[in-house]
Amino acid sequence: MGAATAWCLAKQGRSVVVVEQFARGHNRGSSHGQTRVFRVAYRDPIYTALAARSIPLWRELESDADIDLLEQTGQLDHGYAAAIDEIEVGLTAHDYHYDRLNPQAAHERWPALNFDEAVLYSPDGGRVFADRTVDSALSVAEAQGADLHFQTPVRSIEPHGDGVAVVTDSHTWHAKSVVVSAGSWLESLLGVESPWSKAITLPTITVTEQQPVHFAIRPGMHFPSYIHHVHDDSPGAALRFGAYGLESPGEGVKLGLETHLPVDDLNQRDQVIDPVGIAESVEYAQRWLPGADTSQVDSVRCLFTTTPDAHFILDRLGPVVVCSPCSGHGFKFTPVIGQITAELAMGGEQHQPAWRLPKR
Ligand SMILES: Cc1cc2nc3c(=O)[nH]c(=O)nc-3n(C[C@H](O)[C@H](O)[C@H](O)COP(=O)(O)OP(=O)(O)OC[C@H]3O[C@@H](n4cnc5c(N)ncnc54)[C@H](O)[C@@H]3O)c2cc1C
Repeated sequence: MGAATAWCLAKQGRSVVVVEQFARGHNRGSSHGQTRVFRVAYRDPIYTALAARSIPLWRELESDADIDLLEQTGQLDHGYAAAIDEIEVGLTAHDYHYDRLNPQAAHERWPALNFDEAVLYSPDGGRVFADRTVDSALSVAEAQGADLHFQTPVRSIEPHGDGVAVVTDSHTWHAKSVVVSAGSWLESLLGVESPWSKAITLPTITVTEQQPVHFAIRPGMHFPSYIHHVHDDSPGAALRFGAYGLESPGEGVKLGLETHLPVDDLNQRDQVIDPVGIAESVEYAQRWLPGADTSQVDSVRCLFTTTPDAHFILDRLGPVVVCSPCSGHGFKFTPVIGQITAELAMGGEQHQPAWRLPKR
């Protein structure tokens, strides 16, 4: 999200510095890996509107970087019928095409999956290329004059006149505004120990790890991106689901289960693969993904940051813009989040008032 913010600001000719604690292209946060699900199909229609807004910006970033980043190869939602009904309402309101099918008809059309209860196909969904997106946004920003610093942890952000001082071991930058898009590390910069604690009240942020897997794909099989909704009406349920995945070129079919592994120390993660998580994924795939070859499995770990209501944090207080498009579904919005945070950083009104987060 920091890379996308830099892309938007540098394009406007603003003076931009990007400060990243790890190496370029690192795998220690939330944005690494080849692909993420892209979808306009959401139970909560404000995210359908946001995804719609992101599509032309994906095309703009692709054009700027001369690379393909968003492929609208189609996406399936299935499972809890009430959730599928809510998605249908949102897509209809935004004039998006969709097909409703029964589970058997859906299996005949996509034999790589077994379907639960109710099914909706959205041809506008698909996948985005994650590593490539971050790198492209940084490259275009740099070409437009942004100053990029890697292996440079920000130690603190201090008030400085009307603006801020961003302090690292080797340098202090003074700026009129700062966008804090620190992902799982947000609290270490703006939490109770920071000079901003009296002014900024962050919601409770929970950091866990997810361990998505990739299975080989059986010959002749093909997977659209898919979301499997479980019966859940508890607070925040509209932004959660039981399982998701997609076909990732060269990697196989991805499967993520909404199981969370604890993180004791953000900076001392061993990234060792949890065999219980692998076994659960194999068990799921054997029931729901007949097109997956579960004898060939690979896995990574990824930081997952959640707020209590699963909504993003996008806000400005004085010179500080807080940007945490987290909760496991932020990547598809990357360029539009960059646009929103850039507008907030410049002190302007948001580009389109259609995007308003619900009041906490
Ligand atoms: C397993 C998994 C699957 C997901 N699947 C999808 C999906 O299919 N579709 C979708 O839309 N979204 C998905 N998401 C969500 C999406 O990937 C995240 O919302 C998004 O990557 C968050 O980006 P970010 O920039 O907020 O965080 P990050 O990518 O973690 O970036 C934060 C950066 O800040 C840096 N930083 C932190 N503190 C400091 C400091 N003090 N000094 C300097 N630098 C600092 C970090 O090193 C890091 O590079 C998934 C997430 C996970 C974990």
